[in-house]
Amino acid sequence: MTENSAPLRPVHVIGGGLAGSEAAWQIARTGVPVVLHEMRPQRATEAHKTGFCAELVCSNSFRSDDAAGNAVGVLHREMRAMGSLIMAQADAHKVPAGGALAVDRDGFAESVTQALESEPLITIVREEMAGLPPADWDNVIIASGPLTSPALAEAIGKLTGEAELAFFDAIAPIVHRESIDMDKAWFQSRYDKAGPGGTGADYINCPLDRDQYEGFVNALIAGDKTEFKDFEKTPYFDGCLPIEVMAERGFETLRHGPMKPVGLTNPHNPTVKAYAIVQLRQDNALGTLYNMVGFQTKLLYGAQAAVFRMIPGLERAEFARLGGLHRNTFLNSPKVLDAGLRLKADPRLRFAGQITGCEGYVESAAIGLIAGRMAAGERLGVEMPPPPHTTAIGALLNHITGGHIETIDAGPRSFQPMNVNFGLFPPMDFSPKSPDGKKLRGPEKALAKKRAMSERAETDLRMWLAG
Ligand SMILES: Cc1cc2nc3c(=O)[nH]c(=O)nc-3n(C[C@H](O)[C@H](O)[C@H](O)COP(=O)(O)OP(=O)(O)OC[C@H]3O[C@@H](n4cnc5c(N)ncnc54)[C@H](O)[C@@H]3O)c2cc1C
Repeated sequence: MTENSAPLRPVHVIGGGLAGSEAAWQIARTGVPVVLHEMRPQRATEAHKTGFCAELVCSNSFRSDDAAGNAVGVLHREMRAMGSLIMAQADAHKVPAGGALAVDRDGFAESVTQALESEPLITIVREEMAGLPPADWDNVIIASGPLTSPALAEAIGKLTGEAELAFFDAIAPIVHRESIDMDKAWFQSRYDKAGPGGTGADYINCPLDRDQYEGFVNALIAGDKTEFKDFEKTPYFDGCLPIEVMAERGFETLRHGPMKPVGLTNPHNPTVKAYAIVQLRQDNALGTLYNMVGFQTKLLYGAQAAVFRMIPGLERAEFARLGGLHRNTFLNSPKVLDAGLRLKADPRLRFAGQITGCEGYVESAAIGLIAGRMAAGERLGVEMPPPPHTTAIGALLNHITGGHIETIDAGPRSFQPMNVNFGLFPPMDFSPKSPDGKKLRGPEKALAKKRAMSERAETDLRMWLAG
């Protein structure tokens, strides 16, 4: 508020998850008041367990922190440069995880909540928005996530005219560290890679020989699964396939996915190469819990315990949490949203987070960040140009709001949730060369291109932020 002027009306943010928390923070940083509406703990979702804002519902990983060679690492760097609350708290609560940035989930979410509660310009209201926001709220961000409550989802669906699209992901089990048999398992990161806060020996590895692998795959396929009902026609998202669905795709599929044995040597039996390896990653700061990496599943609980205890080292595993199912709600954003993430049918409503069709904690928070800045700019009468498509955040935003091209294949639509990746960045027209002038080929060329894209993103973000 300036002298003699009316107080600024608040921006309303629906949902205090990864995206809504970041959006609220960014808005408050510009001096604009925010009301953050979060339905938990009064009303739960199928996956959240606490009343904390920014609760991580599955893995505790923010994925690669390598800004030179990985697109999500570039996104981390950009969010840090833009004062991201989510990244600041992730950095403050990181746990060892090889090349990845992983966090102590409760410490992280509690600190995000405390930061929001301590910010004078943010008011947190614990209530469900059980329909469209009141008509007199002129600037709203809907960040209600993949588990948007049915009443709100139905209201949005009516407004957009697009049928809500739901599909399954699945939650990976968490094991008590002390119940893992370390006479069979061992600590090692793949290729001994030490990432942020890591040691190079951050994962627990459980080896399987060929017979054990075969028995395990057969048991996965035979295990009792949750019955499909309303969701039967729902396609899986390939980045988060249930382990038993991967097993059904072919005997070798798991060995080339979450059970790949490369970059690891079993110190208990160094001369024998494991046929497959299950990795477990630290899940809390104390190091008492480990999650089974890539083991999202829709097996029934009883079947899960029996099948996962077939893995050498996990025979007596105690599970702190078994895997589960969840729904995902997202808009056909390229069609229904404008370039500023506003709903074409009702532009006072802006969307952020996974409901826009990005995928992942970091991506959801990033879209929350940009939506928050856009909403604040609108309130202050300053139009914010979108970030360049050459940046990770710009590439992701562009994918959501228009960069995606509908295929000519038959089908209702082809837009699907997307992680940030270098494929979303505009290509660079150059041929990388070695120091002695030879054209690079294969993996070396690919790496050089990624590095160049990362450097371009850094320069372009700096220029964009400067004005
Ligand atoms: C079960 C599950 C597992 C996942 N696992 C991973 C993973 O391992 N790694 C990863 O990177 N991504 C994962 N994702 C995808 C995605 O990154 C997360 O869901 C992420 O939390 C999305 O952020 P968001 O802010 O959009 O939604 P959320 O973090 O879910 O936040 C939405 C918030 O809105 C609230 N809300 C919903 N409806 C209303 C309403 N009507 N009124 C008020 N509040 C409301 C919810 O309580 C919630 O707090 C997973 C998704 C699901 C569903």
